[in-house]
Amino acid sequence: MLEIRDLSVAYGKHQALEGATLRVNPGEIVVILGANGAGKSTLLKAVSGICEGKVRGSVTLDGHQLDSLPADRIVEEGIALVPEGRGIFGDLTVEENLKLGAYPERAKGDEQANLDRVFALFPKLIERRRQVARTMSGGEQQMVAIGRAMMSSPQILTLDEPSLGLSPLLCKELFQNLKQVRALGIGILMVEQNAKQSLAIADRGYLLENTRIVHEGEAKALMTDPAVQAAYLGGGGAAAPATHSPPPSSEKETLTKVTVRPPSRRRQSADVLVGMDLSDLVAKAGETAKSAPKVKAAPMAAAEARQDDIKAMLKEFEIAAARAGQSRPLPDYTPVARSASPAAPAASASTGSSDDAPVTIEVYRAPRVEVYRRRTNGDFERD
Ligand code: ATP
Repeated sequence: MLEIRDLSVAYGKHQALEGATLRVNPGEIVVILGANGAGKSTLLKAVSGICEGKVRGSVTLDGHQLDSLPADRIVEEGIALVPEGRGIFGDLTVEENLKLGAYPERAKGDEQANLDRVFALFPKLIERRRQVARTMSGGEQQMVAIGRAMMSSPQILTLDEPSLGLSPLLCKELFQNLKQVRALGIGILMVEQNAKQSLAIADRGYLLENTRIVHEGEAKALMTDPAVQAAYLGGGGAAAPATHSPPPSSEKETLTKVTVRPPSRRRQSADVLVGMDLSDLVAKAGETAKSAPKVKAAPMAAAEARQDDIKAMLKEFEIAAARAGQSRPLPDYTPVARSASPAAPAASASTGSSDDAPVTIEVYRAPRVEVYRRRTNGDFERD
């Protein structure tokens, strides 16, 4: 089990994380939700030993102290980070990227088995194994990044906003993949902006607000919690800050009431702005279209009839103009049937009495200037 106790980070005088305490069990997905700048990435970096700030507190994995170890030793202990932005090597192939993940001693003997495991998880990567990583789509690159972390035989996988920049469909696929990773017994600690989808697959979650963990709970309970809904799930109360009692654990007893503010507008997810999950929105639009009345409204039918009549008249103008010119062979002409719509424009130029009769239009022929060239022998040749 990964245990983080009283973890604090300061960048110079700026306190970015204060007294964070959380745990991740094997085969469990834990999500950290929080506004921009709350300290989420800082927490993951501190756990992985790559934080530039001053770190205090304790991080243990199965009782082994990690907080004073360098980053490569932490990977050896079994924690792999998929950083925000993926951090893959764009100029290397998929397979080269994956194999680089197998550098820790703990994973060396299992390279082939781990590669098979990654390919089983992401079959798409098999056919793309020779493709240069930067030419792949965002979703595929995310698979490579997760696959590379999996190559180090981790006990705990930490992911910083894995769904960032992915379409709703790819997000869904990604979260399904993470469930498969969990099924392998790997614990997952993930920072996410996509609260709805991440909570849907998570076992537990923590809310990080203004450098502090202000709430924790089962993912299902968090999803239905009004304060969480208002702040992270577009529950309609986003404009009004919601309050939450801190967790009842002894470490949190010094906290009383803490405000959970909605994620800042600086980089708010589209889901939150729209007020519902985008995939739900698309589905709803589809349903609305399906349930729309199939019959054409009468004014629409009349407008379409007028359009047809105008098209027919234009065709007739064209034919009449061509007849008048007589300079080119005439195309076959079949009069276009007119609608009997009273709203159709009157055929003012028509001399026919029936609606089906072709329209005759008087066209005055412009005087034509013909140019001749005189040959050297004195003959004239038409230009
Ligand atoms: P986001 O969702 O926007 O990524 P976050 O919750 O992950 O936000 P962090 O990246 O952990 O937030 O940053 C927490 C605070 O620490 C922010 O105020 C940020 O400006 C600051 N910070 C982060 N990294 C550094 C750094 N290397 N030097 C100085 N300040 C930093």
